[in-house]
Amino acid sequence: MIGILDAKPKVGYFYTGRSSLYNISDKIRNVLVEDIQSVAIVLDEATSIYDALVFMFLEDVGSIYIISEALLTGVISRKDLLKASIGGMDLIKTPVAVIMTRMPNIIYCLPKDSALNSAIKLIEHEIDSLPVIEIMDIDKKSFKVIGRITKTTITRLFVELGNNI
Ligand code: ADP
Repeated sequence: MIGILDAKPKVGYFYTGRSSLYNISDKIRNVLVEDIQSVAIVLDEATSIYDALVFMFLEDVGSIYIISEALLTGVISRKDLLKASIGGMDLIKTPVAVIMTRMPNIIYCLPKDSALNSAIKLIEHEIDSLPVIEIMDIDKKSFKVIGRITKTTITRLFVELGNNI
């Protein structure tokens, strides 16, 4: 079942030459972002920091993607909101656009990327989530947000793979 032995008619069982570790990494590499992505949580650029804070609590998420005219323009995380709150900003009057991390600095992934590659991006950039995007215009960096990959998504995949191996 784990691919170490194979069977052929009139030959019988034979060693495939693959170690079980090889099969585990093969399995991991075959999982795509689109197989595990969660629903994207988005807000418009004009939303106030205060409303974004409440929304983050209600949605129980750690980051929110910010859009304008349906296109990705930024991301805000817990720390961005915390910084704005302790920094004495007017949370009700200031839009999230003022404090968000902006395009083109957003790290993203595509539905057909491997889950492993998106996990590597999370680690390398020290961030909690990646928007899954559909490219509308690559030169203009016009992206539509269609999902998200978070550290929780990757942990869930890890548990699923661990339980099935
Ligand atoms: P937290 O604030 O809870 O530590 P993150 O580690 O995800 O959450 O965010 C740290 C910083 O990185 C924040 O300033 C946030 O705006 C930014 N950030 C979060 N996700 C991304 C992303 N996908 N691409 C670029 N920057 C991001």
